[in-house]
Amino acid sequence: MKAPGRTRSRSKPDRRAIRLEGADLHVHTTHSDGGCSPGEVVRAAANVGLGSLAITDHDTLSALAVARPEAERLGIELIGGVELTALRDDQEVHILGHFVRDDDPHLVAACLNLREGRARRIIEMAGRLQELGLSIDLETLRQTFPRATLGRKHLADWLVRSGQVAGHREAFARFLGDDGPAHVAKPRLPWRQAIVLIREAGGVAGLAHPPYDLRRDLLRELADAGLGAVEVAGPGIDPRCGLRWRNWADELDLASIAGTDFHAADRPGRWVGAITTTPTDLIRLRSKTMDRGSLHRIL
Ligand SMILES: [Zn+2]
Ligand SMILES: [Zn+2]
Repeated sequence: MKAPGRTRSRSKPDRRAIRLEGADLHVHTTHSDGGCSPGEVVRAAANVGLGSLAITDHDTLSALAVARPEAERLGIELIGGVELTALRDDQEVHILGHFVRDDDPHLVAACLNLREGRARRIIEMAGRLQELGLSIDLETLRQTFPRATLGRKHLADWLVRSGQVAGHREAFARFLGDDGPAHVAKPRLPWRQAIVLIREAGGVAGLAHPPYDLRRDLLRELADAGLGAVEVAGPGIDPRCGLRWRNWADELDLASIAGTDFHAADRPGRWVGAITTTPTDLIRLRSKTMDRGSLHRIL
């Protein structure tokens, strides 16, 4: 619980003072599969004294416009972000975009396309669950998560709340897991296209939560295709892996970035700002947008 007085005194921090503090560059909101609204994550970031925050919802930029007035009110830098669902050799990879323009027509259209594909997918998965004898009310589910792009997690939620399975684990094990009878593959962008879209929207493309067995030659291949950053710290990243990737990033001229991949404050230690990108790394990331003479506003 925070004292109201303290919130007030922090509501107009000195921009020069906050520049040297960390940045959480990986945060989700209710516009994708997060549990907090855009305004809530901005307030959470301001409360812990972050200088910068990137909202990186899955395949949508819509939270940014909603969060911007609150970020301006609280004097926190809101970095335009996105996390694109991409595909490489049958493996899903998540490509983060930072400093993207949230009104870039091509990026917006690609996101819309992914979400429409996702909407068709949820209908198909609900249909399969019904064929398996389960009851799904998609309309109510949509009303429960009005802004979210519905996915497996939401269907699992429904099954749990309606008492049809004991928990998420069972929902995935019996029906919704990758090999489950109700699973339908998610629409995904070819990874090279994801990188190009982000760069053409003025942003820096970054590899989100790499697999622990990431190989250096894969990172090089991504870097050659225009990747500009790699996540080296996050909730699922082993610190030893992170250190190794940071060395590779330096060798390959990539920025090292970090963030919480915040979805909800659902367990201890999970809060906006718990894992941050250092000011030096943020400067490096920012400089990647300027490499191409892009016109981003610098604090
Ligand atoms: Zn991800
Ligand atoms: Zn994420």
